[in-house]
Amino acid sequence: MDIVNLSFTDKRFDTHSITIGNLQMGGTNSIRVQSMANTPTHDVEASIRQAIEIFDAGAELVRFTAVDEKDAYALRDIKNGLVAKGYTKPIVADVHFNAKLADIAAQFVDKVRINPGNYLEKRATFATLEFTDDEYRAELEKLDSRLLELIKICREHHTALRIGTNHGSLSDRIMSRYGDTPEGMVEATMEFLRVCKKYDFQDVAVSLKSSNTVVMVQAYRLLVKQMSAEAMNFPVHLGVTEAGTGSDGIIKSAVGIGTLLTDGIGDTIRVSLTGSPAAEIAPAKMLAEHFASSNKNVKINYNEPLALDPFKFSKRDTSLNPSFDNKKPLVICDLPDLSMETLKSLGISFDLNTMTISGSNQSPDVLYFGAPEMDLPDFKTKNISLLIDYKVWIKDSNFEPLYGLNTYLSAKYKSGKRNWVMVSLNTLTPEAMAVLKADPTVVLIACSMCVNQAAEQRAIFNTLIANGVNLPVVLSSIYKEPDVAKFQLTAAADNGLFFIDGLANGLWLSNFAPTQVSIVSETAFTILQSARARYTKTEYIACPSCGRTLYDIEKGLAEVKKVTQHLTGLKIAVMGCIVNGPGEMADADYGYMGAGPGKVNLYKGKTLVKRGVNEAVAPQELLKMIEEEHHGESVKA
Ligand code: SF4
Repeated sequence: MDIVNLSFTDKRFDTHSITIGNLQMGGTNSIRVQSMANTPTHDVEASIRQAIEIFDAGAELVRFTAVDEKDAYALRDIKNGLVAKGYTKPIVADVHFNAKLADIAAQFVDKVRINPGNYLEKRATFATLEFTDDEYRAELEKLDSRLLELIKICREHHTALRIGTNHGSLSDRIMSRYGDTPEGMVEATMEFLRVCKKYDFQDVAVSLKSSNTVVMVQAYRLLVKQMSAEAMNFPVHLGVTEAGTGSDGIIKSAVGIGTLLTDGIGDTIRVSLTGSPAAEIAPAKMLAEHFASSNKNVKINYNEPLALDPFKFSKRDTSLNPSFDNKKPLVICDLPDLSMETLKSLGISFDLNTMTISGSNQSPDVLYFGAPEMDLPDFKTKNISLLIDYKVWIKDSNFEPLYGLNTYLSAKYKSGKRNWVMVSLNTLTPEAMAVLKADPTVVLIACSMCVNQAAEQRAIFNTLIANGVNLPVVLSSIYKEPDVAKFQLTAAADNGLFFIDGLANGLWLSNFAPTQVSIVSETAFTILQSARARYTKTEYIACPSCGRTLYDIEKGLAEVKKVTQHLTGLKIAVMGCIVNGPGEMADADYGYMGAGPGKVNLYKGKTLVKRGVNEAVAPQELLKMIEEEHHGESVKA
């Protein structure tokens, strides 16, 4: 299988179907949607109540953490209680640090998730430890015999397994050989899958989550490659960990999960959001339905070999246009009117005296005026560019012209500065590409009217790379979606991959429905940040919380956001517990971790700086710590 699927969904990674209670997952089954309870698992009544809420929202599986034996045995009562109320869908136990708990839970639940990073080995110390070949082999032998014990219990009780690796919790042993890398995540997982294969235990799903979407995508692609090489096809569970809250969390999840579903990878998804677990289900279902729609199954007419490396991030070469800054992807925004209100909503100011339009850090880089019927003044500009259709463009004005490819090819005069040319897959003939390659002022706009837009746009990039057309390319994506949440989610799922793969140099979203233009622009910036392509706000890495959370994380996150939202470019982790939090906070600059009822620990990177801070003052303490670190200077990336 090509890992990056250029012509699409007839070439999905063909997994085998597994049985989880009364649910089949993988193979030709639909993409399963799931979530995780955040009640203390031993509070059986509360856990049953919340599971019912999640199931009623449309989940097909619900997971519970098993922190100790009390939790592990409570799972029996939760399962029985749910069945007694008519809820027979599968439940899953989530186990870390204690293999014995997995053995207990496997007798009662339909699936057990174990984490290769801490199933047998001690929690990672983030130290570089040396393992000789003999020591390494001995660890694997220990893993083989211990996992076999669990497999036997699972077989007896018809319980499935998930081998659930997280980027933030690799063992020291794996880190010593592979580092904190996608390769390390894959090897950690494969060690477990090889044991399952050896003992012919097939009811196994697999996940490789990270809060870093680029790492996550590369890891899943490598996993599929490696499984294929070793004749395995276990179903794949997708998720972006610690995605955060609200639309930011949904967009980030859609960027990571959407990229892989576009690749043809993924059998079940979880959209992890901080807050109510039931609220995760609507966006997860929307995402699953988006990829199940007939539009996504339209095969495009393109069969060229892949021209990019899907396993390593690199920016596409744009050296044919030397004046273009390819470090920072652009945002282009349609301008529906020239009112002060609209400009202000986009972070743009307009000085009537000097007729100057000025952009800011948060405003689009390029404003598109279309083809206005009235004559426009030749505005002066500051930190912003103005784009207008070629047919109304006036030579040597401050506006820049936008052409269709044929118009560009036959144009009598062009801009000496920058010419924006719309291309689609079928217009990119060898003759047209030869002309484009000779013009260093060109920025291409990749357009698609195909119902399977992402596939066609991927083919455009592939064609340009294969033919050495190293010009900058802005992605154009047009929607007619009145539901804002759906617009944001589908735009993220369709477009994020082009930034994850370093292909596109800008994003031009249009929504021909009554959506505020500021929401469209904000969505584009959030997609770029989610794909780690451009930072325009503080990045929050926040776990969804679970039974280990002993403080009000939702309130804590809201308070932390309030006092740190001006710190553009900083990554701040807000995590539910100190057991997994420090590991899972990935590459955050600062951490805010639940340390007990009403108590929070504060971290600089992975180093504990303040212990047991009262949650009422902890957000301010965090800000103080950041400011001290930066000697009172404004903290800007
Ligand atoms: S970091 Fe802790 S509280 Fe948050 S989801 Fe992970 S285990 Fe649960």
